[in-house]
Amino acid sequence: MRRPELLAPAGDLERCRTAILYGADTVYLGGKQFSLRSRASNFTMDDIREACSFASEHGAHIHVTVNMIPHNEDFEGLADYLVQLQDAGVSTVIAASPAVMAMVREYAPAMEVHCSTQMSITNAAAADYLAKTLGINRVVLARECTMEDVRRITASCSVDTEAFIHGGMCVNYSGRCTLSNRMTLRDANRGGCAQSCRWRYRVFEGDRETGEGPWFTMGSRDLCAAREIADLMEAGVASFKIEGRMKTEYYVASIVSGYRHLIDDILENGGALSEEKLLAHEAEIMKGENREVCPGFYSGIPGSESLIEHPDGEASLNHRFLGKVETFRNGHPVLLTRNPFSVGDRVEVMSPGKRNRFFTIEEMRDEEGRYLERSRTPMRLIEIPVPFEVNAGDMMRRDL
Ligand code: SF4
Repeated sequence: MRRPELLAPAGDLERCRTAILYGADTVYLGGKQFSLRSRASNFTMDDIREACSFASEHGAHIHVTVNMIPHNEDFEGLADYLVQLQDAGVSTVIAASPAVMAMVREYAPAMEVHCSTQMSITNAAAADYLAKTLGINRVVLARECTMEDVRRITASCSVDTEAFIHGGMCVNYSGRCTLSNRMTLRDANRGGCAQSCRWRYRVFEGDRETGEGPWFTMGSRDLCAAREIADLMEAGVASFKIEGRMKTEYYVASIVSGYRHLIDDILENGGALSEEKLLAHEAEIMKGENREVCPGFYSGIPGSESLIEHPDGEASLNHRFLGKVETFRNGHPVLLTRNPFSVGDRVEVMSPGKRNRFFTIEEMRDEEGRYLERSRTPMRLIEIPVPFEVNAGDMMRRDL
């Protein structure tokens, strides 16, 4: 069984480092220009250089998205930008336009070109055509591929395939959607999607309000393919992609670490896991700040059960991020806090490359050395004795 690449998103340098430390083989990110997700805190060229250097030190790679759907005026400066990416050490450009793919080949041929999911590739012939005509090295499959589609395309196409395993789904055909354009004048295909599908709507048929609830939403649940990973590995998929360049550092650490352990466990066990082990891995992955999830198209064409019921996302939260170890005081870790916690809480510590460990908070002190029973406010530096070794950058959470 082939060892797949685990490909994680990053919206800034901190999240890029975190993704690599928690087990990503490759990180994809967007520059300030030419990329979708224009609201993500995107990388300057200096940041991209630093990301490449950190990745190289850890045996990882950086992919950069140049995946907007460009209009004529959008090409200005693109050739120079591609050369700069190549010089920075970027291994791959992810493109959604044949024009951009051709420009990568012409101006920055040392980089690979991967065909973005925005091109909605759902068959091997389309991937082969792009490989022959534009020299693409990999196709990121449309999220709308079923497991059978993935198997057939991966078995018969001439380039590697990449499949989404976790994160947001579009209720319209992956980004081929103008809902946001209509509702907010923000172009989804130039990075401005306002996620209008997730809003709450009242539905009328003529003058009569329909529907049983107080509102209706058409947003899709997020994808979680933990149960399908072994089948995707068996199919020979080269890379597993986690969606979410706008997600938090804690989310990136939780999801990357969850899938890292799952994939490694499957490889160690020759391709299959017991139901008990699978449930444990799923539970780990679901400790991240997930919205409601579904298996997407991997279990067939999704029906109404794949729509979100709670657009605020709170319903699926089962753990709270408490903070990240920032420094040490009096020989104890100091947590930069995010959410409230108390003496007596049982806490889970996430450390890169290790299984998670647990302890109960017996005491804690604030910046002035005063003992506290409860930490209520975010962004405080709280000293907490921990009965085992922790390092700066480790994260803590507790269940709800
Ligand atoms: S509005 Fe919803 S369906 Fe449309 S592009 Fe945005 S996330 Fe996708």
